[in-house]
Amino acid sequence: MDKNELAQLRVAIVGGGYGGAAAALALSKIGMNVKVYEQAPGMTEVGAGIGLRPETVQFFRDYDGFDAIAAVSSPSDKFQILTADGHEIFAEEWPGINDFPQPNKTRMIHRADFIDALRSILPDGVLVLNHKLTDIVDNGDSATLTFENGETVTADVVIGADGIRSLVRHKFFTPKPPVFARTHAYRIVIDAKDAEGMLVDGNLQLFMDNKGTMIYFLPLLHRNQVSFDITVLSEDDAWAPDITKEYLLEKLEGFDPRLIEITRNLDMDKLVSRSGYDIDSVDNWHTDSIAIMGDAAHSMLWHQGQGANTAVMDAGGLAEAFLEADSAPEALALFQAKRKPITDELQAVSRQSWDPDNVDTAFPGAQGGH
Ligand SMILES: Cc1cc2nc3c(=O)[nH]c(=O)nc-3n(C[C@H](O)[C@H](O)[C@H](O)COP(=O)(O)OP(=O)(O)OC[C@H]3O[C@@H](n4cnc5c(N)ncnc54)[C@H](O)[C@@H]3O)c2cc1C
Repeated sequence: MDKNELAQLRVAIVGGGYGGAAAALALSKIGMNVKVYEQAPGMTEVGAGIGLRPETVQFFRDYDGFDAIAAVSSPSDKFQILTADGHEIFAEEWPGINDFPQPNKTRMIHRADFIDALRSILPDGVLVLNHKLTDIVDNGDSATLTFENGETVTADVVIGADGIRSLVRHKFFTPKPPVFARTHAYRIVIDAKDAEGMLVDGNLQLFMDNKGTMIYFLPLLHRNQVSFDITVLSEDDAWAPDITKEYLLEKLEGFDPRLIEITRNLDMDKLVSRSGYDIDSVDNWHTDSIAIMGDAAHSMLWHQGQGANTAVMDAGGLAEAFLEADSAPEALALFQAKRKPITDELQAVSRQSWDPDNVDTAFPGAQGGH
């Protein structure tokens, strides 16, 4: 579509998380008329870190967001997998670092800093807070959104970036609920002084035992902090499971004594506890005027650290599809054709988790993103 056609399309994005905000950035940069409707009154991200992969870093270079992201993140060369007691099983450079005009190291970032930075580079007026979608009607060549506050909006294109419990997905694409993965994640950010001397470089370390317990030690060097994430197997499917420090210490039997000491000193009031859920692959992501992206389209488990990264890469795929296609319906179909094969594979790989007796790469299966 040419510049004039793009400028005339009204785009409404539901959800201002990583996916929705990145889509708003990319689509506004190519000249589209975009609004993002977010249910929350402000920022709600949990205290934890994630790694932005080389292709995600390239997305931000392409859409003038790199400086904002780089200011609140630190570079990382590799991902190391270790036994529970700290013996290296495998170490591998992040895939894709040298695939771009300049090296793009993975960037470690606090989730709250990421969403703050992303929202700060959106053009004024694009992000509309306090708008919870309660209904959506597909009119064929447009769609009408109704919000909890009574407002309605009609747009030519609606993008559902409304996360794992997506209303847009549920109404149009599948009634299936999220699937419990019999796993929990307990996440917290700690200061370097509480990290038992383990914060030595920017690389991600994954410690794991043979009983399905893992610790992700994710350095946030620029903050002099570490994101410390413990994941365990569990049959308790509560969305935010209630756990104690004693329970955690039991799970960590046999782990490096420094990791146990860190855990012994955790402030449990700051720990965010969450059950692991994903969704089955969704056959179709779009109508002629509505599409889903990010977790709404392909929520996956965290084992590959790709959920937020794929949400951002969807944003790039969406912008490319609008530039390449001749109409909005064609663009939404092209978006699915570009992105779904990649995310289908990552969703499947993420369900496999890790097997400490059988690790021959830190990045099994698809590497995603491109
Ligand atoms: C324990 C854990 C660890 C993870 N670790 C990593 C990692 O290391 N690397 C990685 O890349 N990913 C990781 N992820 C996955 C990552 O968090 C998600 O994939 C990512 O947040 C998806 O972004 P999104 O924008 O699609 O959805 P979300 O971040 O869920 O954003 C959806 C937004 O939509 C809004 N919304 C929802 N419903 C409505 C409505 N009705 N109306 C208006 N707004 C609405 C929400 O408030 C929210 O702001 C992890 C996830 C978990 C649970």
